[in-house]
Amino acid sequence: MIIGWIGLGNMGIPMASNLLAAGYDVRVWNRTPGKAAPLVALGAKETATLSELVAQSDVLFTMVSDDDAVKAIYSGSDGLLSLPVQDKLAVDMSTISPDTSRFIAEQAKQAGLRFLDAPVSGSVGPAKEGKLVIMVGGELADYEIAKPMLDKLGKAAFYLGPNGAGTSAKLAINLLLGITVQGVSETLLFARSLGIGTEQMLDIISESAVGTPLIRGKAASILADDYPAAFALKHMAKDLRLANEAGVSTPLAESVNATYRHALEEGLGELDLMALLRHLGGK
Ligand code: NAP
Repeated sequence: MIIGWIGLGNMGIPMASNLLAAGYDVRVWNRTPGKAAPLVALGAKETATLSELVAQSDVLFTMVSDDDAVKAIYSGSDGLLSLPVQDKLAVDMSTISPDTSRFIAEQAKQAGLRFLDAPVSGSVGPAKEGKLVIMVGGELADYEIAKPMLDKLGKAAFYLGPNGAGTSAKLAINLLLGITVQGVSETLLFARSLGIGTEQMLDIISESAVGTPLIRGKAASILADDYPAAFALKHMAKDLRLANEAGVSTPLAESVNATYRHALEEGLGELDLMALLRHLGGK
C-alpha cells in the first residue's frame, strides 16, 4: 500500500510524518515546492508533479487550506480527477463545506475514485502526537480501508455516515472552538479591567471546571503576546463562515463569526487564532 500525501502545511507535515513513522511508504507533493525536506529526511519520496504522485500511490490524502484549494486539487484542469484514479481511495482531511465534500465525492464517483471526507479536530500539537480526532463521511467499506492509517494520525476516528457528514461534524466542533477562544479572551480582558493579572486568571481558569487543554496550551503565547500560527486565525474565520453558510444562526455563532471576520480585516489572519485577544484589545 503506497500513500500519496498532498498538502505540506502546518498540519500536513506532522501528519505525514506519523504515517512514515508507522512504516508506510509515503510519496509527497505540495503546490509550492521546497516544503518536503523534513519528510524526505524521514524516508518520504517527493514527486515533481501531482500526476507522478497519483501514478505511484494507492491511497491519496489531501490536507489543504479551504474549498478553493480542494476544488483546485481534485477538479482543476490538471487536478486529481483528470488523472487515472480508477479504484484508488482519496481521503480529504481539509476543513471545507459539506456541500463541497459532497460535490467532490460525486465527481470522484464518476471518475471511479472512492472518496472520504475526514477532517480533524486538534492542532499541530495533537497532529505531531498522532492524537487528532477524525470525523469521517463516505462509504463504510472505504472507511474500513482507511482506518488503520487514520489510527496512526488520531486517537479517535468517528464514522458518521455519507459524504459531507465528516465536514458537518467538523464545522460543529469548530464552532465550539471559536466560541471558546473568544470566551477566554473576553474573560481575560474583563479580569484585567478589574485588576486581576492575566497569569493568575489563566491559572484560575485552568483549575476551574471550564479549564481545557486548549487554554493551557495557549497560555505561553498569551503571556508573551506572541502568536505564531498553530491554527491560523484565517482558517478559524473560514470555518465560522462555512458554519454560517451551512445554516447556523444562533446568537454566539453570529457573534463569533463577526468577531473573527473583523480580526481578519485587521490583518491578523496569519497569526494563531488566539491573536483574537489582541484584536479585542488585549496586549
Ligand atoms: P496551512 O499551513 O495554511 O497549509 C495549507 C496547505 O494548503 C499548503 O500545503 C498549501 O500549499 C495548500 N494549498 C492552499 N491552496 C492551495 C491550492 N489552491 N492548490 C493546492 N494547494 C493549496 O494550513 P494547515 O494549518 O495545515 O490546515 C490545513 C487544513 O486543516 C485547513 O483546512 C484547516 O482549516 C484544517 N485544520 C487546521 C488545523 C490547525 O491547527 N492548523 C487544525 C484542524 C484542521 P502551498 O504551500 O503551496 O501554499
